[in-house]
Amino acid sequence: MSDQPSDPSRAAAIASTDLTGREVGGYRILRRLGSGGMAEVYLAEQRSLGRQVALKVLNTALVSDASYVERFKNEARAAASLVHPNIVQIFEVGQVGDLHFIAQEYVAGTNLGQLLQRQGAFSPALVLDILRQTVSALSKAHELGIVHRDVKAENIMITPKGQIKVMDFGLAKLKGSLKLTRTSSTVGTLGYMSPEQIQGGDVDHRSDIFSLGVVF
Ligand code: ADP
Ligand code: MG
Repeated sequence: MSDQPSDPSRAAAIASTDLTGREVGGYRILRRLGSGGMAEVYLAEQRSLGRQVALKVLNTALVSDASYVERFKNEARAAASLVHPNIVQIFEVGQVGDLHFIAQEYVAGTNLGQLLQRQGAFSPALVLDILRQTVSALSKAHELGIVHRDVKAENIMITPKGQIKVMDFGLAKLKGSLKLTRTSSTVGTLGYMSPEQIQGGDVDHRSDIFSLGVVF
């Protein structure tokens, strides 16, 4: 169920940092769920509450770069303020030594990118259902002045029952906040980015709607 990296050197780097079996800040890491551009995501057990969570751990290679750490904390702040059935819930952000982590709701499911690869094009009814739920999630964020900025198939999870969970607010821009850093203001995923985002201009909720259009 993980996004397997195709680049062998990246795969090796990731394999060497697999935290499975370790305990980090009160969470016991059970197995890897997936990986993205800046983090590994594990299934973990929160010891105090005996519940399963998804533990997102910032790649240790990126920890020395303050802008990544800032982005990671920004994700926790942005997403934590969002409580919505179609948005992955954030529980806690923490740090143990070099490990920066975000504990969040575990979603038993796959992301839309994986599902598309596995089963090809979706039926129109399913597309509409996914779209309705994703729009509901994004409009909640937009109401609170939060722009996701990295809406793409890999950042939208779907459960076996068809519930949508939008995640990865790592690039989110909070209303009124300064630009994170000069570099991060132009990051995103090229194929999904609006023209204004590619040009590094100011983005607002309309940019998310553009990306959502690309997804569908
Ligand atoms: P990145 O910021 O590095 O892109 P993501 O938050 O997008 O990281 O997570 C990468 C992958 O990990 C996702 O595509 C998904 O497969 C898996 N994943 C992330 N969060 C969860 C979660 N809460 N529950 C289950 N799997 C998750
Ligand atoms: Mg992602």
